[in-house]
Amino acid sequence: MEAGSNTYQKGEVKVEEIIKSNEKRTNTKTITRNTRSAKSTSSSDTTVTDTTNIDSSRNTTSKKTANNSRTTKTKKTTSSADSPKREDMLPIRLQNVSKLVGAHVSITGGVQNSILNSLAIGANAFALFLRNQRTWKSTPLDPKVITAFRENCIENNYQPNCILPHGSYLINLGNPDKTKREKSYEAFLEDLRRCESLGIERYNFHPGSSVGGCSTEQSITYIAECINKAHQETNNVICVIENMAGSGYVIGSKFKELADIISRVNDKDRVGVCIDTCHAFAAGYDLRTSKAYEKTMEKFSNIVGFKYLKGMHLNDSLTDLGSNRDRHANIGKGYMGLEPFRLIMNDDRLNGIPLILETPTEQGDEYQKEIELLYELVGKSDLSQVKLPDDFVQGQQVKGNNSGKRIQSSILDFGSKKKKKDDSTDED
Ligand SMILES: [Zn+2]
Ligand SMILES: [Zn+2]
Repeated sequence: MEAGSNTYQKGEVKVEEIIKSNEKRTNTKTITRNTRSAKSTSSSDTTVTDTTNIDSSRNTTSKKTANNSRTTKTKKTTSSADSPKREDMLPIRLQNVSKLVGAHVSITGGVQNSILNSLAIGANAFALFLRNQRTWKSTPLDPKVITAFRENCIENNYQPNCILPHGSYLINLGNPDKTKREKSYEAFLEDLRRCESLGIERYNFHPGSSVGGCSTEQSITYIAECINKAHQETNNVICVIENMAGSGYVIGSKFKELADIISRVNDKDRVGVCIDTCHAFAAGYDLRTSKAYEKTMEKFSNIVGFKYLKGMHLNDSLTDLGSNRDRHANIGKGYMGLEPFRLIMNDDRLNGIPLILETPTEQGDEYQKEIELLYELVGKSDLSQVKLPDDFVQGQQVKGNNSGKRIQSSILDFGSKKKKKDDSTDED
């Protein structure tokens, strides 16, 4: 997604909205929650009028990967006095899974709400902003908020390895202008300190841009110098560099550039990368077939190395391979299609790291549906085995149907030209 647009605002999911939408959709009470293995053999398990005892249809002894149905099993509430509790309206969250799938969620009302918003979509991982990402100003975190965040994580079993905060869009550590770079560094350091106070171990940020004012090489050196300095001023947070789509003077669209930053960082234990699938695809790394996927992953392995992979952003692309444009599409509905995500969900090298959706949301429940869809892909050796939602059409957002148009128009077009005059980068 692109800075300056309000796509992120729209994309942010609020727990109350989800609950309301669940209430509206079903007018029923969810009777299973926070349990996996809720699979039913019924073909109509998305209907909401089932009044049978769903517990009896649960196969609680099934194997871990055999059972990925996360259908929100519901039961009609007959008594008005038996009004559903908020917890009961939450979708099923799969437990003990090797793939930690989640989304970028809202912090409206305080960072502690990110956990509630993650529960509302059945997420096993989440991303968040640590403050208003579009201004330099920030107020210190309230100690009560810090406590609430930590408590919410513990209570709901969100471990540090499933949290991947996203840095401010304004930060450009590769800026050749010393004053601007120092201002970016201060914001970067502030973000890292926030992570540490919240108990967060990974911090995802955009490497930066030379803004056409110096060589790529020099800009990479500036970025690495900032990371080294920040390491000395903080204790343990890992700086996770995101790959970029490749527009303008932005650093990091090539795996080699990510590796070059890492090579200049002294403490290799505290640096990592986050691969955004849309950005990789837009930068020319194909993932659409098993052969292409393996080739790309082999390149990544040889140039960067999987030990540095600390998270992924799962996004389809509204533009074609090598477009250098950063425009996210919903999973399976863009130029990439569903196959790359099936390959990802069955790739053991990607276990135990946050896999974060940053896809367009219009209805408010897209993240929940996409998390369900992604888990449905686990254990499937080809797409014909996958039970797709009724309204699902691969690539539909690039074929110009209504849904695609609606999403396209919600994203500001920054284009892919060498154009940025200021020091901000424009993807997320
Ligand atoms: Zn993006
Ligand atoms: Zn990003």
